Amino acid sequence: MGHAILGNVTLNFTVGWLYPDLMNIYGDRGNIVTLCQRARWRGLDARVLEVGKGAAPGVEDVDVFFFGGGQDREQSLIYDDLLETKAVALARAIDDGAVVLAVCGGYQLFGHYYQTAAGERLPGIGLLDLHTEAGTRRCIGDVVVEADSALGLRERTLVGFENHSGRTFLGEGLRPLGRVLKGSGNNGEDGTEGVAQGNLFGTYLHGSLLPKNPHLADLILERALRRHLDPLDDGLELAAHRRIVERELA
Ligand code: GLN
Repeated sequence: MGHAILGNVTLNFTVGWLYPDLMNIYGDRGNIVTLCQRARWRGLDARVLEVGKGAAPGVEDVDVFFFGGGQDREQSLIYDDLLETKAVALARAIDDGAVVLAVCGGYQLFGHYYQTAAGERLPGIGLLDLHTEAGTRRCIGDVVVEADSALGLRERTLVGFENHSGRTFLGEGLRPLGRVLKGSGNNGEDGTEGVAQGNLFGTYLHGSLLPKNPHLADLILERALRRHLDPLDDGLELAAHRRIVERELA
C-alpha cells in the first residue's frame, strides 16, 4: 500500500520519544510500535525521533510525544533536564496541536511535582495541574477503566497494568481519563485514572497500553493528524454555501 499522497506530498508522522533509554518500563516501547504501525497501515510515513538529554533538534515536527514510566532513580536522573531543556518546547508544541501520551513516571513529571518514597520532591514541568506523592503501599496489578465518554472512544473501557507508589491528585476542573472499575488508578481513593486535558493524555496504564487499546491509539492519531490540516482559504466555498442557505431559507 503506497504512502498517503496529497497531491505529490507524502504525509510524515513523527513520534517524539522522551528519554527512551531511562523512561521505558513494563513494555512502554509497545506504544511507540503501535502508533507507528497504525499510522503506516494508513499509508503515513511514520518515524520516531528519540529525544534524550540536552538539546532536542526537530521537536517542532513532532506530532505525538510519548513519555514512558521510570523508577524513582530514573526520574531523578531526568527531571532537571526536562525542566531546563524540554518544558518550553513541549508547551509550544502542545499549543501547536501536538499530542502527548505520558505514562506513570512520565505522567507524574508533567504535573507540579513528584515526591518520592524517600521524601525527595522532584519538580515537574507543571503543564498539568496535578501533584503526586508516594504512598506507603505500591499499587500493582491489572486495571480496568471506564473511559470518559467525552473522549468519544468506540470502546467504553481501557485496560492496562499499573505498578507505582505515587498517588496523583488532579487539580480543580481537570478531567480524568476515566473511572477505575478495577485497580488503584491515580490514588486508590477518588476512583479516577489518568487525565485528559485537550491533547494531553496522562495515565498509570503500562502493559503496554496502546496495543490493547487500539481505540485510544486511533484517537491519539486522529488528534495528531489535525496538525496537518492547515487552514485553507475557503472564501469561495463558503460564499456558495451561504448563498444556498439564504436562497433556500428565504
Ligand atoms: N517511580 C514512580 C512511582 O513509583 C513511577 C513508577 C512507574 O513509572 N511505573 O510511582
